[in-house]
Amino acid sequence: MADVSEKERDEVNCAVCMDKLTNAKYLKCFHSFCTRCLEHCVRNLKVSCPLCREVTSVPRGIDSLLPNLKATRRVNEAKVRARIETKIQDSGCQCGSCKELGVICLAKSYCVDCEMLICDTCVKAHELLKMTRSHRIIGVLDFQNGVPVDEGDDVREVGVLERRCEKHGSPLTKFCRPCHQPVCPQCALEEHPKLNDHECVSIVDVEGKLAGELKQLLSKIDPNHFDRVANSYKQRLKNSADKAQELKAKINESAQNEVASIYAKIEAKRVDLNARILDIEKVSSRKVAAVLSGIRRLRCRAEKLEGYANELLKTGNPSDILAVKETVTEHLKDIRAEMRKLTSDDSEVDDLDGYTFTPTDWMSANYEPGVGRLEAPTLRGQGECSVAGVFKRRTSTRMTRTTQRPQSALPRLSNTRSLIN
Ligand SMILES: [Zn+2]
Ligand SMILES: [Zn+2]
Ligand SMILES: [Zn+2]
Ligand SMILES: [Zn+2]
Ligand SMILES: [Zn+2]
Ligand SMILES: [Zn+2]
Repeated sequence: MADVSEKERDEVNCAVCMDKLTNAKYLKCFHSFCTRCLEHCVRNLKVSCPLCREVTSVPRGIDSLLPNLKATRRVNEAKVRARIETKIQDSGCQCGSCKELGVICLAKSYCVDCEMLICDTCVKAHELLKMTRSHRIIGVLDFQNGVPVDEGDDVREVGVLERRCEKHGSPLTKFCRPCHQPVCPQCALEEHPKLNDHECVSIVDVEGKLAGELKQLLSKIDPNHFDRVANSYKQRLKNSADKAQELKAKINESAQNEVASIYAKIEAKRVDLNARILDIEKVSSRKVAAVLSGIRRLRCRAEKLEGYANELLKTGNPSDILAVKETVTEHLKDIRAEMRKLTSDDSEVDDLDGYTFTPTDWMSANYEPGVGRLEAPTLRGQGECSVAGVFKRRTSTRMTRTTQRPQSALPRLSNTRSLIN
């Protein structure tokens, strides 16, 4: 309810002067202010609305703005009521017209145009005269009972804006069809008939025609047009939202694919590096195992040679010793040579000891998704050796291993012994 009263107050009072709206005009935002207040707001033929800041151009001045009919009617009503009130108080409800003739009689009506309280006789006289026939007559009793004074056909004739003839000062209650202009009764009677018989009629008679013209204009306002345009923009809004959704989905999908592909690359490298390390470890342990088995074999051979020599010392004579001494010496030399060869091979055994691993530098300018770099130990001062190089070298060591070792023939002692026995 507070809202309603506030709205009503806005329609009655001017937001600039806070007083009652006087000669109120609408800006294009349909906020209404007094003409005088708006005139103070004009800057470069423009008015910025004191309430909502929307700018209205006024190239033809404040007067050309739409008048606030509601406010004007309220002001007119208040003015007329105040005037009638004063007249009744001043004259004690006497007919002003008859008083001028020295007759005192009771006035039951008020003529708005003559601004005079008049008796029933004078009301009849008003109706007889063409000049006064259109005057607005208000019953005093009606007025005192609060019936609004600006209602009825009289008002329709004078108009809410109460425009008056600039020449005669009378309300424009007639209409000249050829001029398409409202005119005052005097102009209609005296001026226009001179101009090629201009026909003037009561303004009320052309109401239908002029209202039709205005309705014709209003019909050009098509609310559906606004809706259609608004809908096309709403569609744009929706399209844009759909497009955003579509693009986001594409971006997310691409990012997921990219992550998956990078992950797959890294994973492949991880698996590859693990496989290489396993490979190197396998090869090196196989080599160490081969060396160990060689050492075991040589030790076994040495033990057997020792056993053979001990048996010879126990059972043989110097002639026997001389017969085998050279071969035993050859055996010992051979065992030593083989031992040397085995242990010198050992220096070439690939173990993971010298390998280094450098993790991928995420901050590097030429970063590529990966795990890191596995580097083989530096060999024979040739600088860094690639993993591929290690594999090559391994192949070459395999080749050397296949070379046959010299094998000298040793007479079987057990056989010799059996021969001797
Ligand atoms: Zn004002
Ligand atoms: Zn406004
Ligand atoms: Zn009158
Ligand atoms: Zn009278
Ligand atoms: Zn005319
Ligand atoms: Zn006139």
